Formats: sequence, structure tokens, C-alpha cells
Amino acid sequence: MQKSTFWLAALLASFTLLVAACVAPPPPAGSGASSGAAAASTELNLLCTPQVQWCEGMKAEFEKANPTITVNFVRMSSGESLTRLRNEKDNPQFDIWWGGPIDSFVAAKGEGLLEAYNSPNLANLRDPAKTKDADNFWAGIYMGTLGFATNKNWLAEHPEAKAPTSWADLLKPEFKGQVMVAHPSSSGTSYTAMCTALQLMGDEAGWKYLTEYAGQVLQFTKSGAAPAKFVGQGEAAVGIVFSHDIVAEIENGSPLELTFPSEGTGYEIGGMGIIKGAKHLDAAQKWFDWALEPATQELGPKYAAYQAPTVNGAAASRPELLEVKTIDYDFLYCGENKKAFVDRFINEIANADNLKE
Ligand code: PLP
Repeated sequence: MQKSTFWLAALLASFTLLVAACVAPPPPAGSGASSGAAAASTELNLLCTPQVQWCEGMKAEFEKANPTITVNFVRMSSGESLTRLRNEKDNPQFDIWWGGPIDSFVAAKGEGLLEAYNSPNLANLRDPAKTKDADNFWAGIYMGTLGFATNKNWLAEHPEAKAPTSWADLLKPEFKGQVMVAHPSSSGTSYTAMCTALQLMGDEAGWKYLTEYAGQVLQFTKSGAAPAKFVGQGEAAVGIVFSHDIVAEIENGSPLELTFPSEGTGYEIGGMGIIKGAKHLDAAQKWFDWALEPATQELGPKYAAYQAPTVNGAAASRPELLEVKTIDYDFLYCGENKKAFVDRFINEIANADNLKE
């Protein structure tokens, strides 16, 4: 471009910007859009992955602590959340994502979907090496182990059968068509189970196991906790679910026996991260700080959430659920390979066409 043409173009551009600035409407009050000393946000759009009862409880508790902010939340399983965030990357609708195994947060960070935040309350984390992203893109807010939920009435009707106590037991002939688990494409719970098998057994034996395991499944569900409910209702004999969700279902009156696999079980660190381009960044940071306070993490049992807290000063409501043999779950390995592993599961083992709600 010639020099004069350049200056003309620059002048035109400045003029256009000036006009745009004059005619652009001011950001809505409390939108948090940057306008110098912007007004504080009065809304927070939350992508909430745990069970809806806990999401509702946390909304109410946060609004009580922050009366000027209204929380709008949508409950979505981990895999669905990741897909939604990918689709909205250029115009994010959510400000913060709270809950669900961190494998998905590792994947989201890798895809540029999260915003780093160096919260002062990250200092509260009991085990920061494990429960915090090295670059502060996510933080752990709870922990929980995978377990098996077996219907006690089914066991009474099948005296030859026992509740499974190993991953190998799930392949027994009596459990053919009697296993329920979510699909790993939609559910973080199910992805944790899948990546546990791959780590325990190695690549080749792991994929062979997953093929046989999928052959035992009556129907895959969309949400990770749902099999505990369906097995409790007698739709299948065994569910693979986080143990805290099994405990919650037992508290609900479901006739379930909780067991753990003797080879070692997988576990989750539930994550939280601010969405890149969040429109209510200040409110998202408030939620992030608040979620890492001990008093907040002790609210779980009030809303039937028995996951273990991650911060100092908060006591676990069910410490026995963590006192089981676990594998040394590699969250980075599972997070970075999530898309590839899920795609392989869909293409080679079971597609996600007919998921039970
Ligand atoms: N609900 C509860 C209570 C959980 O503990 C978890 C795991 O983080 C989830 C839901 C995750 O949901 P999903 O497996 O449907 O992604």
C-alpha cells in the first residue's frame, strides 16, 4: 500500500471507530462489559455439571452471600458441557463451569476454552499439585471414587450371584444385559470408568476389556449418576457410578449395595474453570473464590452431595468413600486423550445414538 493510501485508510478507520463509539449503545447495567470503571455484574451464567439439587442449592447459597447477583444455571453432563463450550467459543454464553471430573477441564484448557484466574483462595487447596492446574486454568472443588451399585432385590432373587467386587466380575455371564453405565461421550463419570480400565489394563487389554464391558450393558445413559437411580428401581442389576452418588441414592431409599473393585478404582477431582470471554468476569471470579472457601465446600451434604472437599478446614462427610484402593489416575493423560478415546469408543464399540435420559 502506498504511504498516502495508508494514511487515508488509517484516517477512515479512526473516523469509523469514532462514529461507532458515538452511536454504540452503552452496555446494559451490570453486564460487566468493560467500560472503564465498569459497573459490577448483576448476573452470573453458570454451567453446572453435578446433580441438579446441588446446583440449585449452590445458586441459592451464592445469591444469599452476594445479594446483588442473580445466578442463571443450566445443568449439563461433562461431555455435553464440553461440546457446548466448543460450539459457543466465539460467543460464550456461560461465565463459569462448576463440577464434573477435571479430565474435561484439561481438555477444555487444551482447546482454549478457559480463562486463567489466580484466585487468592487457591492457597486453601490441600493438595495443590493435584487439584490445581499449573497455569491456573482450573481448580479442584471435590473428590470422589467410582463404585458399583447392585440392586439388593436382584441379588436376593439370584442367590448364585454376588455383588461385583472387581472389574473382571462385571464380565460374568450373570451380568450380561444387567449393567448400566453412562456413555463416555456425554458423561464424565463414564469417561472416568473408561480411562480407569485403560490405565489398569494397558492399551490393548484395556480396549478389549471395554468391548466386552460394553457388551454387558443393557443401555447407556446420558448422565453419570442416572444408573444408580435406574438400578435402584430394578431396571438392571449393577450400575457403575461415583460412590457418593450411590450413597445419595441409598439415602433416597433405594435398595443398593455399594462395592468397590479390588484391582483399584478410578476417582475424580471435580473441577471448576472460568470460561474464556466470560461476559460477567467479575461475578465469575467471585464464584471461583467462594467455591474454594471451606464453609462453601461443607455445604454439599445439605444438598445430598457427599463428595470430599479439596480445601483445608472443610471436613469430608463420608471419608470412608476415599479410603478404598484407587489407581494412580493420570488426569493429564485422560484429559489430553479424551477426544481420541471417546471417538474410538463411539466408532469401534458403542455409538451414542440411543442414550437413556
Ligand atoms: N453428578 C455428580 C453428583 C457427580 O459427582 C458428578 C461427577 O463429577 C457428575 C454429576 C458428573 O456428571 P456426568 O457423569 O453426568 O458428567
